[in-house]
Amino acid sequence: MSLHIKNAIIVNANKIESRPQDILLEKGVIAQIAPSIENGQHKIIDAKGKYVLPGLIDMHVHLREPGREDKETIETGSQAAAKGGFTTIMCMPNTNPVIDSCMIVEAIIKEAKRVGLVNVIPVGAISKGQKGEELVDMFELKKAGCLALSDDGKAVVNSQLMRRAMEYSKMVDILLIEHCQDHLLSCGSVMNEGYNSTLLGLKGDPGVSEAIIVARDIELANYLRVKIHLAHMSLKRSIELIRHAKSQGIQVTAEACPHHFSLTDEEVKSYDTNTKVNPPLRAKEDVEAIKQAIKDGTIDCIVTDHAPHTAEEKELDFDHAPFGMVGLETAIGLVITELVEQKVITWPQMVEKMSTSPARIVGLKGKGSIKEGYDADVTIIDPQMEWIVEKEDFVSKSKNSPFIGRRLKGLVTTTILGGKVVYQRKQGTFT
Ligand SMILES: [Zn+2]
Repeated sequence: MSLHIKNAIIVNANKIESRPQDILLEKGVIAQIAPSIENGQHKIIDAKGKYVLPGLIDMHVHLREPGREDKETIETGSQAAAKGGFTTIMCMPNTNPVIDSCMIVEAIIKEAKRVGLVNVIPVGAISKGQKGEELVDMFELKKAGCLALSDDGKAVVNSQLMRRAMEYSKMVDILLIEHCQDHLLSCGSVMNEGYNSTLLGLKGDPGVSEAIIVARDIELANYLRVKIHLAHMSLKRSIELIRHAKSQGIQVTAEACPHHFSLTDEEVKSYDTNTKVNPPLRAKEDVEAIKQAIKDGTIDCIVTDHAPHTAEEKELDFDHAPFGMVGLETAIGLVITELVEQKVITWPQMVEKMSTSPARIVGLKGKGSIKEGYDADVTIIDPQMEWIVEKEDFVSKSKNSPFIGRRLKGLVTTTILGGKVVYQRKQGTFT
């Protein structure tokens, strides 16, 4: 059945339409965009007063299945994604077992298809078991459906192994995503190293542990003439290195998370374990640098690093609680409130960071734009709606968010995947 969106203010990465348009979605693609389309035998959605965006794409999500279904499953994670306006997510391989074989990749894709709320692309490991010793079979993983590889959770610290990974990745044409952190340097840390870690008596992670891997990967990418994508950048120094590398024509891309542009390590003073995240919340100057980098294009995309954990685990003391916070359901509100409303970026830039650039970096054809012939993945947002983050509203299995209680502006009202409505706010249901 076809879907007819009326009165849509279309936002693409290059511009925001000044006049409302009608959009017809048919057979899984955007069939027609025109000032007015005749009412036919279509289901109608009136988008008056709302913004219509290409479906959001999150390159960095932890779904926890297989292995930790008590934290999140592909089904609950898909619900959280659809509610957050995401139509494509990439799930990281630090599951149990690790995503390093075709069998696991195929099982995840199969379950995601059964759920049918979001397009799930598994990210395979770079090394077998993420042990940092032996490379996976990249060709096989790509054939099974991985479009990227990462040892996320830790960096590939062995430079020789990383060199080989980069060389193979070029041959196989698969994206490598690096979690930049020299774990020997940050060993035992639970927050950012600085004044606040001293004050709180908590072991700090020196930012240089991130910058070292950023610098090394940039050097390798330059030397080998390959691409590298750097995950969750948190540090002013990393930004400077990436900015310089890009000016030299080195093929580096990078991402940042909402919590790294909206919170500083001051938040840790509450001892709220939901502020314990890896890489850690940094200093004010780092937050400002991340914002500037999002604005000027040094940071290519915004990702959530959605990392669900159970209440029991997060109730442990700060030293022992696991790293991470959920992010799929608060991302759009944080981006609009902290970046768009504060005039750091425009609406089209937001679309670029959350849909168009990820589609380009990963090589997703037919995604990332509202354009005739493109996939009918669409996110409709009420830009004026204000709401408060409430613990009981999370559909993710885990509720570990430091943003609970915060007032945000901008809310997803409808998410459409392949021409089918998968989430509608009014009903609060998934279809
Ligand atoms: Zn990571």
